[in-house]
Amino acid sequence: MKKYYKKLQKQILIVDDLPENVRLLSSLLSEQGYGVSSATDGKMALAIVKQKCPDLILLDIMIPQIDGYQICRYLKSEVETKHIPIIFLSGLDSELDKIEAFKVGGVDYITKPFFVEEVVFRVKAQLASIHQQQKFQHMLEEQIAERKIAEQELHKSRALLTGVLDSSLDGVAAFEAIRDRQGEIVDFRWLIANPVAAMTVGGKIENLKGKRLFVENSPGHLFYGLFELFVQVVETCAVLEQEYYYNSSSLKTWFQIVAVKLGDGLAITFRDISDRKQIETTLKNANQRLTYEANIDSLTQIANRRRFDEYIAQEWSRCDREQKYLSLLLCDVDYFKAYNDTYGHQAGDSCLYEVAKGIERAVRRPADLAFRYGGEEFAVILPHTDGEGAIKVAEEIQKQIQDLNLAHAASKIDEIITLSVGVSSIIPNAQASPRNLISAADSALYDAKVKGRNRIIYRSVELG
Ligand code: GH3
Ligand code: MG
Ligand code: MG
Repeated sequence: MKKYYKKLQKQILIVDDLPENVRLLSSLLSEQGYGVSSATDGKMALAIVKQKCPDLILLDIMIPQIDGYQICRYLKSEVETKHIPIIFLSGLDSELDKIEAFKVGGVDYITKPFFVEEVVFRVKAQLASIHQQQKFQHMLEEQIAERKIAEQELHKSRALLTGVLDSSLDGVAAFEAIRDRQGEIVDFRWLIANPVAAMTVGGKIENLKGKRLFVENSPGHLFYGLFELFVQVVETCAVLEQEYYYNSSSLKTWFQIVAVKLGDGLAITFRDISDRKQIETTLKNANQRLTYEANIDSLTQIANRRRFDEYIAQEWSRCDREQKYLSLLLCDVDYFKAYNDTYGHQAGDSCLYEVAKGIERAVRRPADLAFRYGGEEFAVILPHTDGEGAIKVAEEIQKQIQDLNLAHAASKIDEIITLSVGVSSIIPNAQASPRNLISAADSALYDAKVKGRNRIIYRSVELG
C-alpha cells in the first residue's frame, strides 16, 4: 500500500538473455516515462527484484541459471514480492506454456517476436489494473479503519451509558409499544432496565428484556393502572409526571414517575418518594389537626367564635346567591354567674359542656352549626331556614336543655339550668350584612332576658 505513494515513476524490470531485446524494450519503456532496470539471467533478476522492488516484471521464460517459471514461482511465494505483476515474454508459443505461465502466477503472456506497441499496451494495462486494485484496497482499508474507530466510540459510549444507568439511584427503563393489527397499542415490552428498575420488579436485567409490562403475574409486570397514560405519552409526545403507589407482595413504595416518548415507546425514570410521602402525610395530618383545633372550642368541643365569623360570612353569601333565608339563634345561660357562685367554676365548666351537647342534639341538618359564641353564650347558624323554622329549632334546644335537668338552685326563674334565646332571620340582600343579623338576634336575646329569661324572642332585622 505504501508503495502506492512511494514512487510516482513506475519501475519495470526486464529479464531477457538477449541484450537486443533488453535494449529495445528499455528504450521503448523509458520513452513512455517508466524507470527501467534489466537482468540477463535468473540470479541477477532476483537480486534486482530484492534491491529495487519493481512495479512490474517482463520475464523471459528461457533464461540461464533459473528459468522464468521458477523465478515467478519463487517471487509469488514471497510476501514482499508476491504482489508484483509478472508478464511473461517467450518465444515458446504453445498453449501449454501459456497455461504454465498463468499457473505459476503470471498475469499476462507476450509471444516473441512482439510488437512494440503491444508490449507498451499490456504493461500499461497491467499497471493500470494494479493501480485500480491498490486504490480499491486503500479505500477498503480506510473504511475498515473508520469503522474500527466508530466501533470503539460506540463501545465507549455504551460503556458510559451502562455506567450511568448502573450507578443511578432512580429506576430507569425503556419500553417498546406492542401494537395489534390495527396499529393500536395493546401493551409495552421491556427494552432496557437498570439495576434499580430490575430490583423493583424483583427480576434480573437479562430476563426482563422482551417481557410484557401490563400482563398480570408476568415477571415484567409494573405500573399497574398506568397503561392509558403511557399510551397517551406515545401518541401525544406529552411528558407524564405521576406519583404512583407500587403495591406488590414484596414491595410497597411511592414512586415519582417521569415518562417520555422514545421511538415507538417510552423511557421512564422513577424515584422512591416514600420518605417524602410519609412527611407529607404527617404534615397533612398535623395541618388537619391544627385547622380542627383552630376552629374548635376546647372546653365544649363545638365550633368556636373564629369559626362562627367565617361560617356566617360564607353562609350569608350562599343564601344571598340562592335567595334563601338565613337564621341565627343567640342563646345565653340564665343566671350563670350565680351557678358558678353556687357550684364552683369547675361545675360551671361541666355545665357549659353539657349545654353545648344539648344544643348540638337539637341542631340536625348538615348545614346547621352550633358555636360557643362567648363565655356562657352559644350561637346557632341555620342556613335555608326561615324565622318559623328557627323558632322551632330554638324550642328544641330549650327542650334538650330542660331534659338535661341540671340543678340550678340559685336561678330565679327555675330550679334547673335554662336558656334565653334571641332569634332573627333574613334573606340576605345588598342593603344588609351579617352584622345586622347578629345585632337583631342580640337585641332579641336582650328582650328575652328583660322579659324574665327562659324564653325565645324573635326580632326581625332592622336596616339603616
Ligand atoms: P343573665 O341571666 O343575665 O345572663 O345572667 P348571667 O349571670 O348568666 O350573666 P353574666 O353576664 O352576669 O354572667 C356570666 C357568667 O358566666 C360570668 C362568668 O363567670 C361565667 N362564665 C363565662 N365563661 C365561663 C366559663 O368558661 N366557665 C365558667 N365556669 N363560667 C363562665
Ligand atoms: Mg351572658
Ligand atoms: Mg347569662
